[in-house]
Amino acid sequence: MTTILMASHQDPVDLWRAALAAEMPELEFRAHPDPGDPAEVDYALVYWAPHGLIASLPNVKAVLSIAAGCDHVLADPDLPPGLPIVRMVDDYLAAMMAEYAVYGVLHFHRNMHFYRQEQLKSQWSRGWPLYTPDTAVGILGLGAIGTTCAAKLGELGFQVHGWSRGPKSVAGVTCHHGADGLEEMAAQCRYLVCVLPLTPETQGIINTRLIKAMPQGGYIINIARGGHHVDEDILAGLDSGHLGGVFLDVHNEEPLPPAHPFWLHEKVWMTPHVAGELIPRSCAKSVVRNIRRIEAGEEVPDLFDKARGY
Ligand code: NAP
Repeated sequence: MTTILMASHQDPVDLWRAALAAEMPELEFRAHPDPGDPAEVDYALVYWAPHGLIASLPNVKAVLSIAAGCDHVLADPDLPPGLPIVRMVDDYLAAMMAEYAVYGVLHFHRNMHFYRQEQLKSQWSRGWPLYTPDTAVGILGLGAIGTTCAAKLGELGFQVHGWSRGPKSVAGVTCHHGADGLEEMAAQCRYLVCVLPLTPETQGIINTRLIKAMPQGGYIINIARGGHHVDEDILAGLDSGHLGGVFLDVHNEEPLPPAHPFWLHEKVWMTPHVAGELIPRSCAKSVVRNIRRIEAGEEVPDLFDKARGY
């Protein structure tokens, strides 16, 4: 008998139970706070699990993240070192993230922010559009999600650039890498979309330096983690006019405190960390695929790499 324990304060337990049962009927499903005998738990399926919960499972073989990023697992100070952590890599998650990236870019590209303001003043103001094939979008992060965003934006006719840690070749994408590559890319892009993992190297990467590297009036869409952007630098960029607007799904503090200046800023568009939801009927396939690989002693490509930090 293989047993999985789910612990998440926001994911739907009933949908996960049903989705996992459909994919792997022989899997015993339990949910925190009712783990049964902790010694029987083989896998912990978690999103921001209570600290110490994973350490209380003496025979757990791996942590399965209910998120593409593993920051929520690593935040547990009692996490047993050396325990494998498996990222969530899911086509539907990548597709949802790409939908949001496309929406954010088109929102600004088709001047919806301007037309909304004009509507609220009962003003019939017509602007002149930019020519999409002359317009460049830069994707920060060219992984599972970034390459999907790049493909969808490319289908719309944008010039697509992408930035990764190491050199990469992606069809239809002008690829950049390393510190110099980021500024080289930013200088050409009216829109930047961030889909990086949060690591010590990428923390605070959306800062005044990057904003100034962009052309005047550029836009930033951050759908990765709030830790990537420096709030004060975004506000300074917006207020100086160098940044035309931002679309933020993620924040340095979540929930964003009611007094935060982003809430009422006319150039800030935001959502409460909903860019990519983990839909159980799709993600359960990835979870079961990885359990079967671990049980068979096979390599797990979606393993979190502690040395790289993602
Ligand atoms: P992934 O497949 O691991 O890809 C990460 C990409 O980032 C890779 O291209 C990697 O470069 C690049 N990268 C990492 N560190 C870098 C650095 N220091 N400099 C330049 N590039 C760097 O990750 P993913 O599955 O696409 O997910 C990306 C992130 O999206 C997650 O970590 C998560 O935080 C976020 N996310 C947010 C939501 C939401 O709802 N807001 C939902 C899902 C995911 P290489 O190719 O060279 O390795």
